[in-house]
Amino acid sequence: MRYSIRMRASRAVAHGRPEHISGAERITGLAGAPALARDLARRALEHGKGRPDTIHITLEELDDAAILRVPALPARALDCASAAEGLELAAGLLRQAGVPDPGAVIALLLASAPLRGAMLVDADTLERLEPDRERGVRATLMDMALPAGDNGGAEGKRHYLEAAVLAAKVCHAPHIIAELCISDDPDYVTGYVASPAFGYARIARLKEPGIPRGGRVFLYRGPREAVAATVAFLERRPVLVENVPPPPAFAASGSATGAQAAPGPDPNHTTDPAQPADPADKWAFVEERLDRLEAEGLYRHMDVLESPPGPRVRHAGRDLLLLASGDYLGLAADTRVTAGAARALESFGAGCGGSRLTTGTLPLHGLLERRLAAFGGSEAALLFSSGYAANVGLLPALCGKGDVIFSDALNHASIIDGCRLSGAAVVIYAHNDMADLDRLARQHAGRRRLVVSDAVFSMDGDVADLPGLLEVAARHGLLTVLDEAHALGVIGRTGRGIVEHFGLTGAGPDIFTGSLSKALGADGGYVRGPARVTEYLRHGGRSFVFSTALSPAPVGAALAALDILRAEPRRVARLQANAAFFRARLKEHGLEAPGESAIVPLMAGDERVAVAAARHMRESGILISAIRYPTVARGAARLRAALRADHGHADLVLAADEAARALRTARADFGLPPADEGSRTRC
Ligand SMILES: *Cc1c(COP(=O)(O)O)cnc(C)c1O
Repeated sequence: MRYSIRMRASRAVAHGRPEHISGAERITGLAGAPALARDLARRALEHGKGRPDTIHITLEELDDAAILRVPALPARALDCASAAEGLELAAGLLRQAGVPDPGAVIALLLASAPLRGAMLVDADTLERLEPDRERGVRATLMDMALPAGDNGGAEGKRHYLEAAVLAAKVCHAPHIIAELCISDDPDYVTGYVASPAFGYARIARLKEPGIPRGGRVFLYRGPREAVAATVAFLERRPVLVENVPPPPAFAASGSATGAQAAPGPDPNHTTDPAQPADPADKWAFVEERLDRLEAEGLYRHMDVLESPPGPRVRHAGRDLLLLASGDYLGLAADTRVTAGAARALESFGAGCGGSRLTTGTLPLHGLLERRLAAFGGSEAALLFSSGYAANVGLLPALCGKGDVIFSDALNHASIIDGCRLSGAAVVIYAHNDMADLDRLARQHAGRRRLVVSDAVFSMDGDVADLPGLLEVAARHGLLTVLDEAHALGVIGRTGRGIVEHFGLTGAGPDIFTGSLSKALGADGGYVRGPARVTEYLRHGGRSFVFSTALSPAPVGAALAALDILRAEPRRVARLQANAAFFRARLKEHGLEAPGESAIVPLMAGDERVAVAAARHMRESGILISAIRYPTVARGAARLRAALRADHGHADLVLAADEAARALRTARADFGLPPADEGSRTRC
């Protein structure tokens, strides 16, 4: 839970409203609130405008789901010799932002009575638009997305950071084209102009020292009916600004073209000494960790979808094109599949009430196991409660102390966890590099040795080199395990997976693990392989033995889905055609579109670019995942498109065009060049 903590300091005057002295605000977890309250009170008491007689500190609970994260604006700094010269620079920037008469805007600000808030002004007519002219519009409920404190810095730096946060919020408000700010602190002459057009431009001098006057103007260009929404955004929408760059150094005004514009995390923030943990708060370590994740752009949100998966889904009251689902064949909401689930549910109940070895086994379990084995060409299969459970059950059952597991560098987390749980020595080989596997297999001896790989890599969409892997495994006597979570129903002419994909006729891998929750649209996992091995797992697979049997509804759903997959291979063909078309369209935009499966990674490199690009796409009506560390390596962030058999041609054109545009825009948001050569570095 996050809170807005706000400070407002004022002093009574003989007649009329109290004089406003200072104000500040932060967004914090509860653990940080007491220290912040002290800090804000101290600031109120030390303000250059004089001593207040009243300090209000308020703490307001925020709706976490309403918090919007926006990227900071690229920042630069312009030096100037005098306030007059600074105002000239400000006028030039306002013109660049599209304000026709910047001189009049500056005059309006300097001539107006001081306001607690900002003026909201029509950029073309200079008409005042704020509902309360005496008060102005107050941009509030915002902070940096990192632990707040006094930022361990000089007064000027604090001014800058607060201004950069406010400017980022204002420039993300609907219909705002620019902001001009001159501080009302008599000791602080630096001001800025900000605009979505060019970012944040700090100007060394916008007034002479000693003048306790200043203010802000927000310039608006949009329909009158939309003013209220803009005001509501500014005053009530909680906003966290990600990756606020450090204060740019003042360069001579001639070089104002952005040499300082590249933002980056401020190293001073990572050792922020503020917020001493309250010993009474046993969850301080949790707050700290969450704050750190926010600071690094790694905080995760859960999108709530208000419809079943489909080519379009309902999200936050809008219909979005879904480019982020493992329901590749559109089976999750197929009425035959849901009817299969319903029949099983009505016949056998909601839950099995026991593990498979006690009272949990139903006829449906055996039926699905036989069908899965037959479809994939294995002797037998065993169901687990998820694909994750299958991997963490299988690997420790096969390997232990004294054994060696060779694992691809990009294997799924459930494989990594299975390896760790096994207690075997784990040797990581370079991604899909069979020469490396061969080299390592020569070096690492062990009692029993096994190689495990994703069949289709879940974040890169490429297919494991199975012929190469089998050859190396045969040479060194390795057991082979392939995870076909993203291969079943996706690759191979009839969706039978990686063996069919390569057209292998000889012996395939020893064992497959898989998930019922992707192309089959249901839930659950499995291991398939020799019957004696699945028998052995019934005894030795701890996630099988000590977990309740997979419940009837997903088993019924998976049975129906597998029937459809067998009867309608054209769904697989359509999925493959969609993926090929999407990749070709991306290439036309000059985007690399590696892989051969239904997963298409769009490399962004920088975490912030990936997140911003996903947001741009969502604004254009497309739901796509931004994938970052720890799912992929740091600096290998990406958009991950997952295609569906039921995407239409127009959907794919739109998605590819918008992806190209969103990545370009996101790179520009952070002042990066259009293409990032380093973005494919993975590890
Ligand atoms: C999704 C996935 C899993 C886990 O399957 P669940 O059924 O979701 O637990 C395992 N391996 C890979 C490669 C996956 O992508």
